[in-house]
Amino acid sequence: MELSANALAVLHARYLLKDERGRVIESPREMFGRIARTIAAVEKRYPNGNAPCWEERFFQLLSTRRFLPNSPTIMNAGKPAGQLAACFVLPVDDSLTGIFETLKNAALILQSGGGTGFSFSRLRPRRDIVRSTGGIASGPVSFMKIYNSATDVIKQGGARRGANMGILRVDHPDIVEFIRIKRTAAELANFNISVAVTDRFMAELAADGTYELVNPRSGAVTGTARAREVFDEIVTSAWETGDPGVIFIDRINRANPTPQLGSFESTNPCGEQPLLPYEACVLGSLNLARYARDGALDYPALGDAVRTAVRFLDNTIDANSYPLPAIEAMHKGNRKIGLGVMGWADLLVLLGLPYNHPAAFALARTAMKFIRDTARQASAALAAERGPFPNFARSIYAAQELPPLRNATVTTIAPTGTLALIADCSSGIEPYFALAYKRLVLDRELTEVNRLFLRFAEERGFASPELLRAIERRGSLRGVRSIPTGVRRLFRTALEIPLEDHIEMQAAFQEYTDNAVSKTINLPHRATREDVARAYRLAYARGCKGVTVFRYGAKKGTLVKFADVD
Ligand code: UDP
Repeated sequence: MELSANALAVLHARYLLKDERGRVIESPREMFGRIARTIAAVEKRYPNGNAPCWEERFFQLLSTRRFLPNSPTIMNAGKPAGQLAACFVLPVDDSLTGIFETLKNAALILQSGGGTGFSFSRLRPRRDIVRSTGGIASGPVSFMKIYNSATDVIKQGGARRGANMGILRVDHPDIVEFIRIKRTAAELANFNISVAVTDRFMAELAADGTYELVNPRSGAVTGTARAREVFDEIVTSAWETGDPGVIFIDRINRANPTPQLGSFESTNPCGEQPLLPYEACVLGSLNLARYARDGALDYPALGDAVRTAVRFLDNTIDANSYPLPAIEAMHKGNRKIGLGVMGWADLLVLLGLPYNHPAAFALARTAMKFIRDTARQASAALAAERGPFPNFARSIYAAQELPPLRNATVTTIAPTGTLALIADCSSGIEPYFALAYKRLVLDRELTEVNRLFLRFAEERGFASPELLRAIERRGSLRGVRSIPTGVRRLFRTALEIPLEDHIEMQAAFQEYTDNAVSKTINLPHRATREDVARAYRLAYARGCKGVTVFRYGAKKGTLVKFADVD
């Protein structure tokens, strides 16, 4: 099955079924068979379903790693009470019962392998009154710390670390405390945090104006803040630690397909999936590197895969065992799926396009538009066969003169942190972070050089031990004069790409993505606070739904060695 050593190691450690004594009891081939069988069995519930035919097609797509569903599906498909979705959002109400009821529910989701997003914006601010006790409130940040500790002690089925998103609106009175929280080492280590930024805030930022801070309990205005000062706090924290990101909450809500059912307050942990309270989503990613053919993207083959993947993800909703009845009702009401891509940087190399070439941005738009249009057609075809999503009549689509859809959303770009390892491709839509990585394999430090680069260098006859050593030292081709400029451009790594181009790529994909796009704007260590500020402003101007920056060497911990191209 041509699995790389890395893919095999990940599968053995976390994905292949094990017996009670921890011994692996299935091969990777059997694992893909288990997933295909479980998801295809759903066909039997529908009048025209053909389980054997779809099992075969799902198996083909999975075992060639052209498409992979999110990790919980790979780990849990076919297990009793197998939970298959990666993304959840829970509401946090302003009462002790509400806060701890949600913490309990979050524990169940974490245990099942999912990640949860929470908005803490409804909680009354610190020092506000608590009527029942006559005491004073401790505020959203204090409760986030409790959620964080709880996550520490719950291992996600032993297979995944707990991931949470914590959101606070920019007009919450405790916003500055929230923005600064990650500057203290080890605070909220299980949380990504983001500020929900409003259009009003962005307008005041541009005009150097002020805006009102509002107590969510009473609706009372507690004070005013200067937008620029709060923005500077966000920028300083992000420059130091990578957190908080921002989400453009009004823009996210303008894209809400079911506003009658509620508004978005939060996204899932990595930011790519805005969800209503109690909503879930199943994700899946196509490996675009597998669709390069004769120097171009093979649209007919990609279209076939998109149709099969949409059916797979729709079936996954029916095959899922949900951690809570409220979540099952929401997910089965809107039937959101998020089909996305990985291997984008690989595809560009295979097509000979540098990551930040105008033709690469154009291809991102064309390819993603094709994927979204094809996915919507597939969802409409499923609606004709199985019925539209139950809340369809209450959705924005009902007023449009288009065929009904089976799924309220069809596209999302996930980070594919582990999926890309299994598929042996570059992650999501990210450029290569480095061309050489060091990995600890059984206590031995092994250096691994980018596979496509090695092939490229060998084919063109410039591979040499000195070259490999230089790449191992630097992580990139920057300044390696023995390599032609064109090749150096083609293999440019994340820190060599200007932040404007990172954002342009995110914006290009966002244009044709129903949900959101996971992308880290990686900046070199020397990047300034002004660079971070520019990235945030530009992401807003270019139509992104949110943005996350990470300055190399900032506090969160460096991701890989060998990449310091400064
Ligand atoms: N996620 C999680 N724990 C993790 C990694 C991811 O709960 O350790 C969830 C989270 O909601 C994230 C989503 O899975 O946004 C998708 O992440 P990714 O694509 O990296 O997951 P993969 O399927 O590759 O494991």
